[in-house]
Amino acid sequence: MAIDPNFAESRERSSVGDWLDIDADYDVWGEVDQPERLGIHGTHVAVDFDICDGSGPCLENCPVDVFGWADTPGHPTSDRKAAPVNESQCIDCMLCVDICPVDAIDVDGSRG
Ligand code: SF4
Repeated sequence: MAIDPNFAESRERSSVGDWLDIDADYDVWGEVDQPERLGIHGTHVAVDFDICDGSGPCLENCPVDVFGWADTPGHPTSDRKAAPVNESQCIDCMLCVDICPVDAIDVDGSRG
């Protein structure tokens, strides 16, 4: 299952600070029920934490360091997630969308 590109229409919005102790401020979309359900993190650069496998090619290859690790102990697919902590710096190169092995990332320009 890939990230739903229509998440902003179909999901409730909250703030990452409501859920994670992380040095970042971005929106979280969808139902959160920790530790099993974590929702979609970010808007322009959106990462479905419930799909992310924590392998990190996005984090290692993003040319402008948009991603940082978030610890998510107890989540079924991985205990760390690539959080879009600097999403406003994204230059829409689409590398992360192309290399994510589990199709967990959507960047604005890739929608519709
Ligand atoms: S689209 Fe490019 S610049 Fe934007 S987050 Fe992905 S890899 Fe980084």
